[in-house]
Amino acid sequence: MEQQIDRCGDCHSCCKSFGWIDDNQIKLIDLDIQYEWDRCNKLCDNNRCTIYSTRPQTCTDFECVYVESNLPEEYLPDTIGYVTDLRVDNGGHFLNIIPHESGKSGVTPTEFWKNNYKSIHVMKTTAEEVWSVVVHSINIATASGSETFNV
Ligand code: SF4
Ligand code: SF4
Repeated sequence: MEQQIDRCGDCHSCCKSFGWIDDNQIKLIDLDIQYEWDRCNKLCDNNRCTIYSTRPQTCTDFECVYVESNLPEEYLPDTIGYVTDLRVDNGGHFLNIIPHESGKSGVTPTEFWKNNYKSIHVMKTTAEEVWSVVVHSINIATASGSETFNV
């Protein structure tokens, strides 16, 4: 992801949400980077990455659906309560959704899916338009676990 400060504003939800990613993905991050539960310790007080030019691949691979789209500000991850990242696996493209506030309150992925169905659908159709791809599934990771929904 190329940083687009004008779209991100004061958000930086992505750098505050890595604590929700499962252990396998955390292991992909450089070992000398210590992640707290919900905030990367390479994020300084003014919400800038202090190692931006050498940030790990997990960060460079991150494709924020909001920042690459023309979605209105109500879909800003800090506002909407979750980060939406377009990823690729053997089956094609899928969305990785990482709730921040809801995850902290112990909502299950299924509950989160039901509570946010409309906005998640907007994220899916937006990602498909922006990248000209078909999204085959949506992965939701909360503090209660991770679940994949086929769409
Ligand atoms: S989650 Fe998206 S909008 Fe928010 S700071 Fe990260 S890239 Fe920018
Ligand atoms: S290394 Fe930088 S870009 Fe990656 S999560 Fe931490 S602050 Fe964000």
